[in-house]
Amino acid sequence: MTPILKIKDLKKHYPVKKGLFGARSTAKSLDGVSLEINKGETFAIVGESGSGKTTLGKTLLRLIEPTSGSIFFEGTDITHLGAEPMRQLKTDMQIVFQDPYGSLDPKWTIGRTLEEPLRTHFSLTDSEVAEKVSRILEVVGLTPRHALRYPHELSGGQRQRVGIARALILEPKFVVFDEPVSALDVSIQAQVLTLLQDLQKRLSLTYLFISHDLSVVRYISDRVGVMYLGKMMEVGPTEALFSEPLHPYTQALISAIPQPDPEQRRERIVLEGEVPSPRNPPSGCVFHTRCPHVMPQCLTIVPELQRISEGRYTACHLYNNK
Ligand code: SF4
Repeated sequence: MTPILKIKDLKKHYPVKKGLFGARSTAKSLDGVSLEINKGETFAIVGESGSGKTTLGKTLLRLIEPTSGSIFFEGTDITHLGAEPMRQLKTDMQIVFQDPYGSLDPKWTIGRTLEEPLRTHFSLTDSEVAEKVSRILEVVGLTPRHALRYPHELSGGQRQRVGIARALILEPKFVVFDEPVSALDVSIQAQVLTLLQDLQKRLSLTYLFISHDLSVVRYISDRVGVMYLGKMMEVGPTEALFSEPLHPYTQALISAIPQPDPEQRRERIVLEGEVPSPRNPPSGCVFHTRCPHVMPQCLTIVPELQRISEGRYTACHLYNNK
């Protein structure tokens, strides 16, 4: 396995003011995440709202500047790369957002939306641009005639296909999908997921797939990382992680998936309370306020992400010395 992207101890902390008199504190949106994503795989990030998964996706692409840590893309340290080399690199690294309607300019035709990144990054003639636009529309299952339409004239599924086309028209190697099907009907979700799988094979793409929907993640991904309050709780191959989750948080998430087959059903683990604020994360293990297995050391000692078996990692004191 060759990694296309490596991150080491990545942090994104924001200074925040609390209360009437503005006492200062720090919100830890991303707090020491290390990860490797291999060429050609789909790596999914799951977690509840506020877990840091979108911050991770944006920080990897330098859409958000990290507070500390490092990001390597194809062996090059891009953490502090200047604006011009980063602009060139952006053709290799793209992102597709959840809301295709919100990310498309309603006043622009689809053709203009797709032309814009080409004209920003390459010197192409008008006919070369038109040809690339027609071709990418066909690649994502639309037709060249869609170039003349406006976003409001398309269905939700068609708009998300345009969002995917806009990311792929620059022929990237690595694409972050941030909840790409969450805004779509279930039947359209399946079509878009099948399209993504097909494009990955045809175009040799690597995906980072961010989602809160575990069924979608199980369907699309090769490996999964589970995040909670800015930290990576567990990493593993998708099937192994779903059939035998290690971390108490992953166990709770998976127990909540509706399971039609009674033999496969797990006892539901209901977590007490809400996810704490990243402005005031719990000490020690950040999950200790909700963990059914909490032990005294969990309140003070931060568990490191440790290797449990081939390809499987978890950050939990239950596995110390095993
Ligand atoms: Fe629960 Fe402790 Fe493991 Fe955290 S370290 S998940 S609190 S058992």
